[in-house]
Amino acid sequence: MEKIKMTTPIVELDGDEMTRHIWQWIKDILICPYVDLKSEYYDLSLVNREKTADQVTVDSANAIKKYGVGVKCATITPNAQRVKEYNLTQMWKSPNGTVRAILDGTVFRAPIMVNGITPYIPTWTQPITIARHAYGDIYKDVEGYVKKDGKAKLVIDDADGHREIEIFDYSKSGGVVMGMHNTDKSITSFARSCFNYALDTCQSLWFATKDTISKTYDHRFKDIFAQIFEEEYKSKFEKAGIEYFYTLIDDAVARVVRSNGGMIWACKNYDGDVMSDMVATAFGSLAMMTSVLVSPDGNYEYEAAHGTVTRHYYKFLKGEETSTNPVATIYAWSGGLRKRGQLDGIKALQDFADKLEKATIDTIEGGYMTGDLASIYKGNAKVVKLNTVDFLKKIAEQLA
Ligand code: NAP
Ligand code: MG
Repeated sequence: MEKIKMTTPIVELDGDEMTRHIWQWIKDILICPYVDLKSEYYDLSLVNREKTADQVTVDSANAIKKYGVGVKCATITPNAQRVKEYNLTQMWKSPNGTVRAILDGTVFRAPIMVNGITPYIPTWTQPITIARHAYGDIYKDVEGYVKKDGKAKLVIDDADGHREIEIFDYSKSGGVVMGMHNTDKSITSFARSCFNYALDTCQSLWFATKDTISKTYDHRFKDIFAQIFEEEYKSKFEKAGIEYFYTLIDDAVARVVRSNGGMIWACKNYDGDVMSDMVATAFGSLAMMTSVLVSPDGNYEYEAAHGTVTRHYYKFLKGEETSTNPVATIYAWSGGLRKRGQLDGIKALQDFADKLEKATIDTIEGGYMTGDLASIYKGNAKVVKLNTVDFLKKIAEQLA
């Protein structure tokens, strides 16, 4: 059989620990037998980030900007313990944070649904995608403690002059205070990424904040979304048969729970952080959650939502058998290859991505799965718990 040819390289960001091995196995067992893989390779392992003073992370993000599509393996974000373990000269920043800052995007997370792994909410028959704004708010806040009889004020200096707004008079009790911000530029890219992703995946977009209480801050998000939608996307949405609407976050929560899924739910940074964990858990497992970073100028970075699965890796190093779930990493590859196929007009590559995903789902539905899924599976098939490599080989049989 002739292998599928690619015309533009996919940017490949390799990573750490268990997922680094899974990365190689997926390429060897599932992709390279069928695709003449053309990739521009960046080694984002912590060892190589140390060696290059993290330049490799910056280079990989710029490569995604150049070619448009990247696939990323999970990577270690170093903490004090990792600094010792890897003998680092610096506590390098989170690679995801660095890539995000260069690409300026929004993170979309969606569960992979399989018969037999049932959502805790039975009406959720289609996946719910969370679009999380990945800049600002409490993640870039400043905080302080104010003693009794103190005062806290908001001071603004801009072209309109100098204003001091009292936040609170602590005459009866000491307490806490917080200042946070966001920018029109970042909110605008967030909005565009959401509208583009909705069109790309042909799903309606819901957006919710607490604008009734936060009449300037949250209201600004609402206004920017509304303006961009009216000016740039309204007719495209009508043509695609999808809708955009804004509602209050309380109402969105109630509606999402009662819905059948199948929509994108755009959330401010904190809401998205919390809601994506809630949605992933309610759908079954973090190991079955895909994640893609979409930039406003149309660059894509696909990855799994989970980390490097350190606990399994240490067992693997001791020679013990591991049954780590590779599904989200397979979907990172299929997502990236499909997007490459779409951008380059290579139908065979798009079809391959579809078939790879179908083979993965069919394998699980046939009863063959990793340990994490075996423990929550409620379907009719007889369950066979496999180690990671045997599971990948089963998918390969199905794919063949
Ligand atoms: P993790 O790697 O996601 O693993 C946490 C636990 O979740 C695992 O111990 C395992 O539970 C379960 N799990 C996660 N993925 C699984 C899979 N594919 N198959 C089966 N079980 C899975 O999170 P972590 O242990 O907090 O972080 C480990 C490292 O990953 C850290 O260095 C962190 O910096 C990094 N990280 C990277 C990313 C990223 O690159 N996007 C994201 C998060 C974390 P059991 O042990 O109970 O089986
Ligand atoms: Mg979270």
